[in-house]
Amino acid sequence: MQYFPLFADLRQRPCLVVGGGEVALRKARLLLAAGAKVTVNAPALHPALDCWQREERITHVPGEFRPELLTGQWLVIAATDDRAVNQRVWLEGNQRGVLVNSVDDPGSSSFIVPAIVDRSPLVIAISSGGAAPVLARRLRQWLETVLPRGLGALARLAGELRHKVKKRLPATARRGFWEAQFGGQFARHALAGRTSAALRAFHLELEQAAASPAPAGRISLVGAGPGDPALLTLKAMQRLGEADVVLHDRLVSAEILELARRDADIIAVGKHAGGGHAQEEIHALMLRHARAGRRVVRLKGGDPFIFGRGGEELAAARAAGIACEVVPGITAALGCAAATGLPLTLRHTARAVTLITAQGGDELDTLDWPGLGAAQHTVAIYMGAARAAEIRDRLTAHGRAPQTPVAVIQDGTTAAQRLVNGVLADLPDMLLRHGISAPALIVIGETAALARADSSEGAEILPGSSGARWRDIALAG
Ligand code: SAH
Repeated sequence: MQYFPLFADLRQRPCLVVGGGEVALRKARLLLAAGAKVTVNAPALHPALDCWQREERITHVPGEFRPELLTGQWLVIAATDDRAVNQRVWLEGNQRGVLVNSVDDPGSSSFIVPAIVDRSPLVIAISSGGAAPVLARRLRQWLETVLPRGLGALARLAGELRHKVKKRLPATARRGFWEAQFGGQFARHALAGRTSAALRAFHLELEQAAASPAPAGRISLVGAGPGDPALLTLKAMQRLGEADVVLHDRLVSAEILELARRDADIIAVGKHAGGGHAQEEIHALMLRHARAGRRVVRLKGGDPFIFGRGGEELAAARAAGIACEVVPGITAALGCAAATGLPLTLRHTARAVTLITAQGGDELDTLDWPGLGAAQHTVAIYMGAARAAEIRDRLTAHGRAPQTPVAVIQDGTTAAQRLVNGVLADLPDMLLRHGISAPALIVIGETAALARADSSEGAEILPGSSGARWRDIALAG
């Protein structure tokens, strides 16, 4: 971040605009809107500036720029059409510790002015740090169209009501109360300009909130999906944005954790072979934070209920009498299949799909191998790499053809995604040859031959000996 963004209080602060033309006019208007005391230094003034001067809204200092004019100024905008003059203003400003912006010349500026979406008191400032002003402007236009006009009125109203909330509710209850307001009737009415209806809704809810005891904490078991943040559900995003504490698995990417509140406690509780937190510790941590009245998000890779121990965490919360909800996520098999164009079921080709895991001692013994060994049955294996040989042997012993297609997807749906195609007989060697590492999903079945890497950037295609292609399979149907 080359520029530090900030919102400056310029009310009654002396600010100088050097230049008297169209651009200077625009800059002076912006400074006046912020309540600054504006001086314009130029030999001649644009008619509108001249008018403001006569109305005493600005002060005019005629003549060429002189460094003494910088004394006592808070901000200076060099807006002449002479780049050399603007540059000089900046150099002189630097010597005096005065912030100077040279219009359209970030190289000769100590600050830059962002593109602005003004829903005062809500203001959004956008900057590309001078790298792509057109992109910043496009983003501004987009925000202008998507953000409701009434947002300013909503923020203003909320600002006026803040002290009431402060008086009636304890600090721990306030954020939750406001979140409910901005997602409820109050906001809907305020955005539509129905101020009195908004106020009625607000006061009703405030009374209710004040009458109820301290808010109970709650736990959300949230599925973060297979990696790509765009695969989060809207509800998962909401819960992340509200959480006081996020307890996350190792598999959850930094990009997704970025979506949590800046002031939330983000705690890694990743389990991995030979280390990390025991499941009971995770339960205890979850319950402790919830009992303290905090909103806990237990963020898990994929879906909480698919090989994610979400069931145990839900049971622990229920046993402790703490409200607990489950927000589903896209499980690795679905994410990896979509990212590689591998249909897990396909008419006449793959009639069923089973998700299994090879983790845990006796896990493999308890499975229905005759069922999995049947043709036209897709098997998606989680945490299976270490026991690939055993899986191959059991499947082939139960009738699965050694030439059955296999796809192995590592880091599916992320920028690092890798795909290896091959056949069942070769599975353990394939994993070794290509140095497949966790997290990786193994998919075995006729449609695995259709998996392609080209839908994801940075992926590689490593063809195996299976020749089946979409056309062959479609024709076979
Ligand atoms: N609850 C998770 C699974 C947790 S078990 C879910 O629903 O997806 C962890 C295993 O999931 C990994 O060992 C791997 O087999 C699989 N997995 C998770 N994310 C993956 C990804 N992005 N690509 C491939 N496999 C993944």
